[in-house]
Amino acid sequence: MATATLSRKKPAKKAAVKSSNAPVAKAHLNGKAGVKRVYFFGNGKAEGGADMKDLLGGKGANLADMTKVPLPVPPGFTITTDTCGDYNDAGQKLPKGLMEEVRANIAKVEKAAGKKFGDVNNPLLVAARSGAKMSMPGMMDTVLNIGLNDEVVLGLAKLSGNERFAYDSYRRLINMFGDTVMGVDHEHFEHELSAVKNEKGAKVDTDLDTEGLKEVVARYKEVYKKHVGSDFPQDPYTQLEHAIEAVFKSWMGDRAIRYRQLNDIRGLRGTAVNVQSMVFGNMGDDSATGVAFTRDPSTGENVFYGEFLVNAQGEDVVAGIRTPLECKTEMAKWSKKSWAELLAVKKTLEARYKDVQDFEFTIEKGKLYMLQTRNGKRTTHAAVKIAVDMLKEKLIDEKTAILRVEPASLDQLLHPTFDPKAKKDVIAKGLPASPGASVGKPAFTAEEAEERVGKGEKIILVRRETEPADIGGMHVSEGILTSTGGMTSHAAVVARGMGTPCVAGAGAVHIDAKAKKFTANGKTYGVNDWVSLDGGTGEVYEGQVPTQEAALTGAFAQIMKLADKYRTLKIRTNADTPHDADVARNFGAEGIGLTRTEHMFFDPTRIHHMREMILATDVESRKAALAKLGPYQKEDFVGIFKAMKGLPVTIRLLDPPLHEFLPHNEKDQAELAKSLGMSLDAVKNRVQQLHESNPMLGHRGDRLAVTYPEILEMQVRAIIEAACVCKKEKISVLPEIMIPLAGTKAELDYLKKFTVATADAVFKEQGVKVPYMYGTMIEVPRAAVTADEMAHTAEFFSFGTNDLTQMTFGYSRDDAGSFLPEYVAKEILERDPFQSLDIGGVGKLIKMAVTLGRGVNKDLKCGICGEHGGDPRSVEFCHTVGLNYVSCSPYRVPIARLAAAHAAIKESQGAGKKK
Ligand code: PEP
Ligand code: MG
Repeated sequence: MATATLSRKKPAKKAAVKSSNAPVAKAHLNGKAGVKRVYFFGNGKAEGGADMKDLLGGKGANLADMTKVPLPVPPGFTITTDTCGDYNDAGQKLPKGLMEEVRANIAKVEKAAGKKFGDVNNPLLVAARSGAKMSMPGMMDTVLNIGLNDEVVLGLAKLSGNERFAYDSYRRLINMFGDTVMGVDHEHFEHELSAVKNEKGAKVDTDLDTEGLKEVVARYKEVYKKHVGSDFPQDPYTQLEHAIEAVFKSWMGDRAIRYRQLNDIRGLRGTAVNVQSMVFGNMGDDSATGVAFTRDPSTGENVFYGEFLVNAQGEDVVAGIRTPLECKTEMAKWSKKSWAELLAVKKTLEARYKDVQDFEFTIEKGKLYMLQTRNGKRTTHAAVKIAVDMLKEKLIDEKTAILRVEPASLDQLLHPTFDPKAKKDVIAKGLPASPGASVGKPAFTAEEAEERVGKGEKIILVRRETEPADIGGMHVSEGILTSTGGMTSHAAVVARGMGTPCVAGAGAVHIDAKAKKFTANGKTYGVNDWVSLDGGTGEVYEGQVPTQEAALTGAFAQIMKLADKYRTLKIRTNADTPHDADVARNFGAEGIGLTRTEHMFFDPTRIHHMREMILATDVESRKAALAKLGPYQKEDFVGIFKAMKGLPVTIRLLDPPLHEFLPHNEKDQAELAKSLGMSLDAVKNRVQQLHESNPMLGHRGDRLAVTYPEILEMQVRAIIEAACVCKKEKISVLPEIMIPLAGTKAELDYLKKFTVATADAVFKEQGVKVPYMYGTMIEVPRAAVTADEMAHTAEFFSFGTNDLTQMTFGYSRDDAGSFLPEYVAKEILERDPFQSLDIGGVGKLIKMAVTLGRGVNKDLKCGICGEHGGDPRSVEFCHTVGLNYVSCSPYRVPIARLAAAHAAIKESQGAGKKK
């Protein structure tokens, strides 16, 4: 049969192949001898299996597995993900021999289904669906009803006894093939459908009769011909071959690439293609199609959670075109038998896969078919509850329960909720599609959302419904509001995955996207009006509703307790105030890893004394100004020590360059001069004097203490006096005095003398002694390289990976934003090294420093206090190099606790495997 290339009038709107991912054609890959590319499943037997997700994709592997259970899976076959990789590597050419393998497998499907592909009397129709190893919902292409043509449609009408259904299926094929495979804009088809509906007085698609659908088919063929430049292909194998290619191409489409970037999906060769015998949910009122989760993916509750549409095809449910019915309340009314079968499927799936399943089903003339199953995406709230529940139900063990919750996703639970006492004006109510409280101003397209967020606005994306192309705008928005669509509509599924609050299907919201406004409850809201969404209740409020902090309770607390049982890494926090320290302790912090003392100087009175100190012209007047600051510092430290109740507290001495504390505009300089009884010129001169071309590498860190030891003396005195106050009140304290930015042992030795002398003086004055430690940050590569020397003086190391990254790469922390995103986009760097530790470079320095340092002092305490301390991937690295603790911002403490448990469990599992 002919497989001639279809001519294209206009290029498909697919993304160009990215050169980095599709190197020059490798001829040898085309037609690799002996490579099996196609795996059959059907009638209780399958060549693939659940453990073959790399090769068959998640969907293909599970279709094979479900077939073996056996669950009622329509027969079909899976073309491997490697074939997609070979296809793209070869400059988008199908490997030789592939279509022969496909034909041989079609023959098997024909046998299993008792139908024939392209046969007019007994036609087999197939679907071609994508399916990568990781699920990428809606990001790649699908073509249904392949095998229909002008003659087969007559056969299908006869065979099904339903002419209307046959033509409905045919027009769907022309539309999908035209749009997905040939790049014809869907709008052109939609336009003709609306025209026929108008002529026939049909309100919805299902009102169209057979004659109407025949007319639609004729018009769709015209649209196809006009835009593609040739007739709609009548040969079923031509249809199939091009559908397979379209799915492979969609792997490299803009949407799919963006989705992989956003979700950090890497290292995959491509998508599989699942070609499967069609079953029809649109064969009449005894047919239906639906999607379901074995538990509620929003709350985690153990209830059947699904939706179905009678007399419809799968894409109608997911696209949110018609509002589906809830299975739990409606299905038994429609068919008791189907409802009972679905409840049995729920049990079978969970017992087999030991996780929540998200599955698609079709009921054709009363018979249930399973079209796919996969682990269900869920909110973090649900993930935590499900992990804890499944552990109780003995479906999974403790380690599995911990690994089921992604550390970074805990962020969702740490988000604020609306203050229950706040006054709320409800303007609309929709479905509670993704929980959380969000407040922002409406944007009506994804592009608008991205643009306005870029300018610093907080945005609620307001759409009739979302589609995969909106992914970027959805990602940056605070919340998402849609006026149509159900709990499994695109907006709902994607928002839940992102942890973005979402209210879906709020029918009372009337959107005029062109005019950039919506009306609800009789009022109009535009781009400058605040609205608030509660994704947990589905309510939409007018204005900015106040929010309140999250609490660590219930299943969340249980999973954290379990995590603590398995982790070995300690978790500290970066906190500069007693309030931060308190929040962090409540989240489980086991100490403070960094107090940045400079933050304590910005209060109006204190900054005044600070400026006085900086402007002082001699040591005596500098000491006098410092003496005024001392009591404030002491008070802060007492507060922090008390909040930490005996846990270790690392206090870093003054770090930033002094000019950061001085005013830079003339008006403020004049005021300062007046208040200090100085001339404006004197202030200006000092500002001028402190100006540096490269302040990040200038007079900062311990270099300040070397030139002005009196600053160090004031701070050490405040720390030790505060510790003595606590000791007298019987509160135990463990201060760790930390020197910033040191690069030589000599600096540490020099400053230690002042530190020890000051501490001893205070002990003498106070008549008590407290233990304290003297240590250093490792922020300068030289410090890491000479860590064996540094460890002779420093009693602990804390890796300041913000500066260490800056100095290792030579990327300015403050200026890297202008080029780093491009480095990541061009894959020169895998990730932004300021967010996720550069393991190959900065990590190597850390490892070296730990080894060198512990070679001198085997008990050397080592931690990390840069931003990376709260990044799960970096936390795992810290575990493997044997740090004692990671320190992160208070809200990331639970994330770090869980990440540390993941690291320990994975290590033990890896060790188990090695044995
Ligand atoms: C660091 O450099 O990693 C650090 C914690 O210090 P800062 O961010 O205050 O420079
Ligand atoms: Mg630093």
